[in-house]
Amino acid sequence: MKTINSLLIFFSVFAFSLNAAANIVFIGIMENKKVESVSITVEAGNYEVLTNGKKVLEFEQGEEIIVLTYKNQLKLIAADTIISKSFVIKIKTRHENNFFSLRLLNMGKVKHRYEGDLLVTSNNNKLKLINIINVENYLKGVMRAEIGKMSQPEFLKAMATVSRTYTMRNMYRHAKDGFDLCDAVHCQVYYGERDINDHIRKAIKESRNKVIYDKDGKLVNAVFHSNSGGHTVGSEDVWSGKFHYLPAKPDPYSTAGSQYSWRKEIPLDKFKNYLEGKTGQEVTQVDLCKDYVRQKYYYCNNTAIPLKEIRQDWKLRSTYFVMEEDGDALVLHGRGYGHGVGLSQEGANRMAQLGKNFEDIIKFYYEGVGIRDYKSWKSLARQF
Ligand SMILES: [Zn+2]
Repeated sequence: MKTINSLLIFFSVFAFSLNAAANIVFIGIMENKKVESVSITVEAGNYEVLTNGKKVLEFEQGEEIIVLTYKNQLKLIAADTIISKSFVIKIKTRHENNFFSLRLLNMGKVKHRYEGDLLVTSNNNKLKLINIINVENYLKGVMRAEIGKMSQPEFLKAMATVSRTYTMRNMYRHAKDGFDLCDAVHCQVYYGERDINDHIRKAIKESRNKVIYDKDGKLVNAVFHSNSGGHTVGSEDVWSGKFHYLPAKPDPYSTAGSQYSWRKEIPLDKFKNYLEGKTGQEVTQVDLCKDYVRQKYYYCNNTAIPLKEIRQDWKLRSTYFVMEEDGDALVLHGRGYGHGVGLSQEGANRMAQLGKNFEDIIKFYYEGVGIRDYKSWKSLARQF
């Protein structure tokens, strides 16, 4: 066990020193699953396979290997033969445009395709999979997962810049786990990066290296959501921190779009019971919010209930709604989708349709910020 820990530490240190020297990022793959065995197939190009730092295989297009964890070691199997037992396996690409597919054995037939390298270790009889990839290539996968059908070029450039900024600001977020970011919603959703459309490819290329800074020269907290409903929310109303570039403000660009409005019916007596639970007092009458005003709290019996709690408890699309009674039902008519802080994706797409460029879009949703190229990965990383 000691050996494994020291190996992991070694690889983490190695990872981050390398990370600082080049524009590459270490992504933890499927960390939330108990992965015990994987199949890896070369889809394009050729690779070499290293175990404990030594090359053991040439790995060519169409070939498959299996890696499984056994007593905290890794078994590498190719063509039904055990090639090696080791603590670390690296699938190393010989060319940036090569890609491989990864399939979790005994967990269905879903394949994810990745560029870059793959580092495999074992921890508590679980495989630890790390995709080592150039940041600009990683962004393709993030964009693919987080952009819906919106395809305005300047909107996509804004989103690429936002995702790049988020990536850089959150480097080392998972340092204790031996990688930079995970591939789940906790960081940025990333299921590999093949099959992306040309619009996304072009947007990443045209915004290459661009990141967003605040007036103090720090990378911004580039949060976004689907639709603000026509009014964004200040960061302090959702989280404890106040960021001066994330104010509450009218957003005329988000008053349309597929996520602009929603409706939800709740049985009136259920909502009364809910309020009684929250306030500890009898509720005879539900106070109705009748005007669209962005607020932090709903008030009942002199108790302030955070709207974000109500949103979560009733699975509402936003905290921005009015109420009406209709017989035994309470009907909520809502606007927007998401927490409402920062960039509204549908609003940003609308701005692009109206001829605004990606810098206009970013500066509308993040006030007082600047956009520029990062000088080097190393100098940026030093800020955090
Ligand atoms: Zn994460």
